[in-house]
Amino acid sequence: MSYALGERLLDAHYKDAIVDACIEVVVLEESVCWTPGIVCSVYSNTPPQSPLRDLLVDVAIWTASDDEMAQLSNCGYPVEFVVGLMAALSSLRQKGLKGKPPYKRDPCLYHEHKKTGMVCHREKS
Ligand SMILES: [Zn+2]
Repeated sequence: MSYALGERLLDAHYKDAIVDACIEVVVLEESVCWTPGIVCSVYSNTPPQSPLRDLLVDVAIWTASDDEMAQLSNCGYPVEFVVGLMAALSSLRQKGLKGKPPYKRDPCLYHEHKKTGMVCHREKS
């Protein structure tokens, strides 16, 4: 997985570009990127504070059907992912799902540069 390579290289701009590509796929094709295989791969190759994990949680929250949510415990998702969903849903319970999903509003929410204060890779090019 490309993001895991960026994790090993500690290359924030590379990882942020991968996140942007993931967001493009989700937005343009409305494809489901939070299948058990993808989620397990991301969670086993990223640290707990990875913004890519936050992106998967947010995409699941904004795209999952009721049936898909009901099947979470049967599909082999990492416990950390399910706990992340619960935490995000608890937070959203008060705010509600209004407007656009956060990944459509501000991709930088899922970029590593937000933690380090670096300039976004999109502004560099
Ligand atoms: Zn950015």
